[in-house]
Amino acid sequence: MRLGLNQVTSGQEILGGDVLRPRTIAHPVSAGDFLAGLQGATLAQWHRRGKYLLAELCKPASAPEGSAVPRQPLPHLAKAGWLGVHLRMTGQLLWLDRDTPLHKHTRVRLFFTDNRELRFVDQRTFGQMWLVWGAADPSATISGLGQLGPEPFSAEFSAQYLAKALGHRRRTVKTALLDQSIIAGAGNIYADEALFKAGVRPDSLCADLSLEQIAKLREALIEVLQEAIIAGGSTIRNFVSVAGVNGNYAGAAWVYGRAGLPCRVCGTPVDRLKLAGRSSHFCPQCQK
Ligand SMILES: [Zn+2]
Repeated sequence: MRLGLNQVTSGQEILGGDVLRPRTIAHPVSAGDFLAGLQGATLAQWHRRGKYLLAELCKPASAPEGSAVPRQPLPHLAKAGWLGVHLRMTGQLLWLDRDTPLHKHTRVRLFFTDNRELRFVDQRTFGQMWLVWGAADPSATISGLGQLGPEPFSAEFSAQYLAKALGHRRRTVKTALLDQSIIAGAGNIYADEALFKAGVRPDSLCADLSLEQIAKLREALIEVLQEAIIAGGSTIRNFVSVAGVNGNYAGAAWVYGRAGLPCRVCGTPVDRLKLAGRSSHFCPQCQK
């Protein structure tokens, strides 16, 4: 998603927008303030932390009257804040022509030049957007951002770290993998897939895992996320949509969404169980 967003919106100025569902805007309280703050801002670069997308906003360096920000001759654009997005369960960001008929679940629209639009569509309405203005630390405003564990691709996410984080807990490994304070960014699909690749049952208790299993799990999670990024990237290049990373990956999934279908490795029907309210898919033969 981040790669796709950078391809289409980097350096683009937000001309305006429309908030169709005010509650999607988690901050500021008023949707009008949200839009007024974004208008005239340029999207510099999208970043990602866990499942949060964070766009760095810039505005012309000449400070507005009465502002304490000193006028900078260069660069022409000065850091102005952050636009935060969390898609949650069903959120999608679409890069469209502005005259594309409105989708039923359109929540927020941001308008750009050349009649282009970044449209936030979200059926289940759990998705959120934040505008953090000025030099404030976004994690002070964006709920959950400050509590995230290490990124899976970071050096900090070592087998030793994971062993310590899972520790002697008497909770299932699947539940632990979804805990964003342990690993940032692992979702239901990727957790199921990583557990399959590592040969670990989702309902194993953390305390019962060997160091070898934990090391395998760490490697599998990194692999699954890398594959998913590549799968998503091929669609993003079409510029039709900057959504669908999960969808693309799910077509090639080992176990996710395949309950009752034969395991791609051994042919045993893929099983499903509920853990902490989420569906877990696994092969009872390949995963122990
Ligand atoms: Zn199997």
